[in-house]
Amino acid sequence: MLSIISSVLAVLPSTAQAHELKFKIEKCGCDASCYTKEVKSLTCTDSDIRFKSRGLPHKSHSLMKGITASNQQFPTIHDHNITITRSPQESWLTKSTAPGAIGIAVNGVPIFSPDTQGPMQFLTGRPASALEKGELDECGGHAGRGDDYHYHVAPKCLIKDLGPTHVEVKKRPIGYAMDGYPILALGWFDRKNNIESLLDKCRGIYDSKKQYFYNVMHKPKWNILDCFKGIPQRNFNRDLWKHRQDRYSNEIIGSPIAFVVEKYQLKTKGDHKCHIMTGMLKNEQLLQTDMSIKHVGRKRGTLFYCNSGCYGQFFEADRNASFRGRVMYFERPTDNCPAVLGLAGLPMFKAYEGRRQLQHRGPPPGGVQRRRPPPAGPRNGRPPPPRPGDTWPSRPPPRRWP
Ligand SMILES: [Zn+2]
Repeated sequence: MLSIISSVLAVLPSTAQAHELKFKIEKCGCDASCYTKEVKSLTCTDSDIRFKSRGLPHKSHSLMKGITASNQQFPTIHDHNITITRSPQESWLTKSTAPGAIGIAVNGVPIFSPDTQGPMQFLTGRPASALEKGELDECGGHAGRGDDYHYHVAPKCLIKDLGPTHVEVKKRPIGYAMDGYPILALGWFDRKNNIESLLDKCRGIYDSKKQYFYNVMHKPKWNILDCFKGIPQRNFNRDLWKHRQDRYSNEIIGSPIAFVVEKYQLKTKGDHKCHIMTGMLKNEQLLQTDMSIKHVGRKRGTLFYCNSGCYGQFFEADRNASFRGRVMYFERPTDNCPAVLGLAGLPMFKAYEGRRQLQHRGPPPGGVQRRRPPPAGPRNGRPPPPRPGDTWPSRPPPRRWP
């Protein structure tokens, strides 16, 4: 799917000429005061700006809240190593943004294209937007398949924190694109700086010193940049990360479920860290311990993860000829739950305690051979292996029982 998408999203001819403004923006990529405190180890060479971040915004930002389509991921600490070129190369052809990373915000949180990796939409020729699919929180971001928090539209909470002096008076960047050009948010606080009608098709423009920059949209879709004016840098971000593990030492990569997130919190005490997300399960078929199936709609509960002996998460059940459509089950080991979780006080989904489900849980224990080798392509109907970053491809909703 990804190769089809990237071949279709090829280069676009550059036709529209960018306007030029009468004022200049402040280039301050090597100045620590241009970033928030989440950015660490800022250094500049003649050619590059470099910094590190853990990929999480300021703790005052309400992450994940407002999402209506969840993939059961949590925003976790990452190890982003960012390299931004100080000499962006303007290309004679603009390049369309493919689903995935397109830049970095000045708080060290990656910025992704608005489109997720679902199927191509007939009308747009692009995957559906994360915003329209209800995948984004109130700050314009979410945690992807690698439990990596990132923005898909303008980082609303960050721009609010940076404030009018940074954004409008000093005209400082709110982020950098992968091609090295700064991203600004002119017009967010001060309508006199509204340059929306002057932007080129990539959402870019030149200042009075011929410095090109992108400008994010202030409502209704909060677009960041719609194509690259310059050549995207291949070494822009190196991220070392590890998936969470389940009780069988398999990586947990949450199957997508329709879950309206009401509240997310990270509780920490000593070495314990528990991710807790409470919300409403909208519409799923759930496997019960007695192997019957129950259709569940509008049920409040909690997804959580503390460690490989303490988590509550939905997984897809093994396929069965008697199942119609997808069947999920809720796995809830609590052998190693720290008191900080406060499990007793959380609304909870009913745990499945029947025989072990294997299909979506990696190899069986003890090195036993699979009954049959996995076919080529999507494995046993599973989605392709994850890449760091984004959500699962969209899947059809489960069929209802008659
Ligand atoms: Zn995403």
